[in-house]
Amino acid sequence: MTVLADHPTASVASIGEPRLLAGVAEHGRVDHTQHLRLHGTPVLRRRSWLATALEDVNLLGRGGAAFPVAAKLAAMPAGSHVSVLLNGSEGEPASRKDRTLMTYAPHLVIDGAIVAAHALDTRRITIVVHDATAHDSLVRACDERTDAGDVRVVRTHDGFVGGEIRAVVNGLNGDRAVPPGRRVLPHEHGVDRRPTFASNVETFAHVALLARLGTSGYARVGATTEPGTSLLTLIGDTSHHGVFEVPNGTPLSVLLPPSPAPVLIGGYHGVWVRSAGQLVLDRAALRAAGSPLGAGVIARPHAGTCVVSEVVRVAQWLASESAGQCGPCFFGLPALADDLAALAAGAGPERADAALRRLALVRGRGACSHPDGSALFIGSALETLAPELAIHQHHGTCGLPPSTVLPLPKGLS
Ligand code: SF4
Repeated sequence: MTVLADHPTASVASIGEPRLLAGVAEHGRVDHTQHLRLHGTPVLRRRSWLATALEDVNLLGRGGAAFPVAAKLAAMPAGSHVSVLLNGSEGEPASRKDRTLMTYAPHLVIDGAIVAAHALDTRRITIVVHDATAHDSLVRACDERTDAGDVRVVRTHDGFVGGEIRAVVNGLNGDRAVPPGRRVLPHEHGVDRRPTFASNVETFAHVALLARLGTSGYARVGATTEPGTSLLTLIGDTSHHGVFEVPNGTPLSVLLPPSPAPVLIGGYHGVWVRSAGQLVLDRAALRAAGSPLGAGVIARPHAGTCVVSEVVRVAQWLASESAGQCGPCFFGLPALADDLAALAAGAGPERADAALRRLALVRGRGACSHPDGSALFIGSALETLAPELAIHQHHGTCGLPPSTVLPLPKGLS
């Protein structure tokens, strides 16, 4: 492991040669002159080349859903009316990877936007970002170069659900920044209500690298099933605390020294697992194992602390984040948070059964992924933390100090 930089909120490191974070160890924020030395000017490719290359390296979106980027591109019309949207709003409170990338390597993100816009024959590029430091770095980066005149950098609202891409689109279009109540996708109805190629900022940085390195160069690092690297945010009892650029295919045991404590994979819409050390950083394999990588968060409370209290805290926050549009989400998530609090205080198995019944009523019942993601977090906690919950049931507490490694927005922790 190489530590590249120490950020006030998260230090930055890599396994092997960093790609997305190249130059950070030497320069901190990579300015345009340094970026040109490292990467050169963006390599502009035809749409057909890009489509094939994206498919060949199986590039999956880095925002959480891991949707194949080639399929997203294939669904897009081309022309000056379409838009390219980079989502850097990073609503997941546990994630630091996107703000770190935009802060330290803003030009790689902008290169990816320019490559995608060129392939789609448009100049309309919008980058949305919530973090102030990342926002300033991107604005400075646009000023440092001459080919970013059409790039618009927009500050977004805070909030988990507000960072969902369709909520971001609504906000940009002057509507309330919540997911629409019906299924509308950005490639049909996006920025300015026009077709929009939208993805997470890290995805675009990979697009820039792919255009520069070509398929074989890009695939020199990572797994055969998923070449390249990924940015992760590691929290708590892990080999590194902060943002980590890791080759895909890396065993999670490298990131997680042996410990009996459960691990949260994917963030607050993620899954609690007991034997994470046996898994490998490969999005398809993790999804098949029932623990999708989501926003790239891997967190483990320290052994000897109460993880149940941590789960209750996050469940209460998830309930508070409902946008209030869908009944099962608005009423169901607070009730589930109450169930968990009662179980932590010693409620019996009938309360756990009630929670399981409630989970079934919440799943698949929202206009966005918030209830499903929250149900995944809560349901996996009920299952994986059964031994800890049994201790709470018998004694009303486990007697351990509360774990406090999972961050929440200010005022809620
Ligand atoms: S599911 Fe919840 S968060 Fe999503 S739109 Fe409906 S009320 Fe809002």
